[in-house]
Amino acid sequence: MTLYIKNATFIDWQTLKFTKTDIEVSGGKDGGIKFLDTLPAVLADPVKVIDARGKFVTRSFGCGHHHIYSTLARGMPAPAKTPENFLDILNYIWWHLDKNLDLEMIKASALASALYCAKNGITFVIDHHASPFNIEGSLFTIKEAFNTIGLSHLLCYEISDRDGEKIRDKGLAETKNYLKAGNPGHVGLHASFTVGNTCLDKAITLAREYDTGIHIHVAEDLSDQDHCQKNYNRRVVQRLHDSGGLGLQGSIFGHCIHLDENEKVLLRNSKVWVAQNVESNLNNNVGLANFTDYGNRIMLGTDGMHSDMLRSTKAAFYQGLGTEGISFAGIYERFRNIHRFIKENNFQGDNDNNLVILDYNAPTQMNQDNFLGHFVYGIDSSHVESVISSGRVIVQDKKLVSANEEEILSFAREMGSKLWEKLT
Ligand SMILES: [Zn+2]
Repeated sequence: MTLYIKNATFIDWQTLKFTKTDIEVSGGKDGGIKFLDTLPAVLADPVKVIDARGKFVTRSFGCGHHHIYSTLARGMPAPAKTPENFLDILNYIWWHLDKNLDLEMIKASALASALYCAKNGITFVIDHHASPFNIEGSLFTIKEAFNTIGLSHLLCYEISDRDGEKIRDKGLAETKNYLKAGNPGHVGLHASFTVGNTCLDKAITLAREYDTGIHIHVAEDLSDQDHCQKNYNRRVVQRLHDSGGLGLQGSIFGHCIHLDENEKVLLRNSKVWVAQNVESNLNNNVGLANFTDYGNRIMLGTDGMHSDMLRSTKAAFYQGLGTEGISFAGIYERFRNIHRFIKENNFQGDNDNNLVILDYNAPTQMNQDNFLGHFVYGIDSSHVESVISSGRVIVQDKKLVSANEEEILSFAREMGSKLWEKLT
């Protein structure tokens, strides 16, 4: 089906140029957009027309590091012990939660996260999943949920040794099955301190076999570096480099908070992308980084805190002011870098036919020259009115139209209660 958006003010996401135009949007992962002076007199059937008079149309958003598995955590019972450090947070909160997930709960988590992503203007999600006692089929379950909502995705399972060899091998097997079936994905790893040398070697071999990268948390907390020094006599990025992990195409290293100068050089000289997740770093109290010397392959994620990239971007901006004196243009570049990552690595689902329509009735004038001021201080997800994913309208007038929102949330609540009962 062809979609027309009439009376739009289109903002080019790269040049920030404003163009008043009608837009023809063609569907599919290979589709695109065409500017029209006026709509054709006779429209081919089937066709959909959206009137965007007074609204702004621009490229939709992407999330560079998400964890749908955390969706049902909101409001959950307090942990058995109040965490005193990052390892306690993992042991008493996240590893307790992810061990209790079953496939139904994973489906509910993925659907609810995808719903929020869609309503917040995100059409491409890079997810890092964990459910150690229900690994088989987990990636396929998430894929199906994302497809139901209409999001493009790049998935992985966070393989590790934390629950023993058998579970490690199940993680490797699920990843292999998923990649073998032709799905876009990474070979996921939890973090250096939970991944032994055999596990790391197997993961890198698998990534090479399917010509993809690894997706791993790197030096999120200082304890990851301490563990690496003690056990491998080197720092985390050096360890990943020495095992061949920096030469893979399309790898993502999440966080990278505690790196020394040599590790930054290794990163700069590699093809690796860094995913920055400021709110999560603040929430876990693991420290904050100055990313100035990390090269220009930095994108932003939510780390499963929520599904709102405009919110993540604002947080990264305010933190970046203190740590690195970041500019409007600097933070906008990081927000938009995910499009570069996807293109560079030949993943599908992020063509020009991925759009948001913003109902942003600004109190001051907005144009190409001052757009970034509005982007940082004005525009937020409440202005996302409609969302088009690969040419398909998935949100219109702030309502999900690709699936039933009420059913998704009611299913999530049901699964949330089931999970919480297992946690206590
Ligand atoms: Zn993460």
